[in-house]
Amino acid sequence: MIMLNIFLKVILIFLSADFLTGVYHFTVDTYGVLNSKFFKNSVDPLLLHHVDPLFITTQSYWQINGGMYVFSFLIFCVSLFFGIQWELWLLLLFCSNGNSIHKWSHAKYENIPKIGRILQKLSLIQTKAHHAKHHMNSFKGNYCVMTNYLNPILSTIKFWELIILSLKTIGLKPVEVYKQLPK
Ligand SMILES: [Zn+2]
Ligand SMILES: [Zn+2]
Repeated sequence: MIMLNIFLKVILIFLSADFLTGVYHFTVDTYGVLNSKFFKNSVDPLLLHHVDPLFITTQSYWQINGGMYVFSFLIFCVSLFFGIQWELWLLLLFCSNGNSIHKWSHAKYENIPKIGRILQKLSLIQTKAHHAKHHMNSFKGNYCVMTNYLNPILSTIKFWELIILSLKTIGLKPVEVYKQLPK
């Protein structure tokens, strides 16, 4: 029973990481600008890979995940003041590796590590076909890059559209900077 409890928790934590990294991806795609003061190393590659989808495959593990590791480490340090919370640490670890799963969605089959190929085949992580929808649909929707399971739900309830509408009411309009980038 304890093992089942832990197993279900890990699945829930993985899906939570998919959601949180999806929120980050949505924020960058919709409101991000190039050469910004904050998170430049994380924001710019995400925006630029819309123009050159193979760009992400040329970057190293630390180049694509470093920014999220820094952010996660700060939260990890704060969490220490509140006692041991393995669930939060696992969430931070999953979030920090979300872009690797994204990278595998763009990589050539032979360049994906064996573990990645197996997980993609079993649909335990996001498949290439699923992520392609984000790139084929003008980068609108399908912002979650870790699994195939949250995007259809968020799309059905028009989650992202509602966020954009809500933020417009307080004067925050989408930038969609990638539209201004050379094709
Ligand atoms: Zn992508
Ligand atoms: Zn995107």
